[in-house]
Amino acid sequence: MLSLFDDQLFMINKLSACVLGSSSSGNSTVIWNEKSSILIDCGLGPVYITEQLRELGLRIQDLDGVFITHIHSDHVNEATVRNLHKHCIPLYCPSPIEVHLLKKYRSIADAKKEQFLNVIHKSDVELDTLTIRAFEVPHDSDGGCFGYNVFGDLNGKTKKISVSTDMAEVTESALEHIADSDIIVIESNYDVEMLERSGRPKWLKDRIRVGGHLSNDQCAESILQIMNRSQVLPQMMALAHVSKQCNTNALAYDCTVSAMDKHGMSQTTVCETYPQKPSRTMSIS
Ligand SMILES: [Zn+2]
Repeated sequence: MLSLFDDQLFMINKLSACVLGSSSSGNSTVIWNEKSSILIDCGLGPVYITEQLRELGLRIQDLDGVFITHIHSDHVNEATVRNLHKHCIPLYCPSPIEVHLLKKYRSIADAKKEQFLNVIHKSDVELDTLTIRAFEVPHDSDGGCFGYNVFGDLNGKTKKISVSTDMAEVTESALEHIADSDIIVIESNYDVEMLERSGRPKWLKDRIRVGGHLSNDQCAESILQIMNRSQVLPQMMALAHVSKQCNTNALAYDCTVSAMDKHGMSQTTVCETYPQKPSRTMSIS
């Protein structure tokens, strides 16, 4: 039982998110409060993740869990998985991707027997002061792809952070899950014209457009739809997984912010993300 002192020590006053890095070379987002911390994906190297967490006043050995969205290698870094295992930090994945994760990543398969990998079935995962819910999104990855809602209590009110970085389109179900979030991390992957002019083979362009990722225009349109069905509008939003070859942060930002401005929805702060640099910290208090 907590003493009065402990109770004050662990008072939850703030819920925060930071995209530690996001691109086709690696993705990881940390979500934390005064008592708990989790990662969504671990696609960046162990030294980088450890250093960025330290900058935020967090320690890798204190993480409560790491949630995997899908099996692509920019979301799961083998060296980081081994480091998480060394620190006894559990991995979590939705049940449809379990078999594919085990097949693709030797480090996860080796550690499976020690309950290192926890499979999420239908129900939410309760980890200390945070509740995590997976929801399916379309993306061409074996076993499928998932976004996550993270719920945390703040002064008696439930706050919600949603992270979804790889989506071919924003389905009705994804819109429902992301609506009413206080913080949203969503991808704005490519600029339509830059992709067209990129010199990439047609099959790759089609893969990105049809089964892979959201364009800036699709992202902006989805954000309007999310806001239209929300009672609570997001305070902050980060545009993630911005393609290095077929997009720029300025194009992604301008597309979403001008759409929001046009519809009188300019109260949300929109943040950029970077391949090898953390986004600004997004906090609700
Ligand atoms: Zn992917």
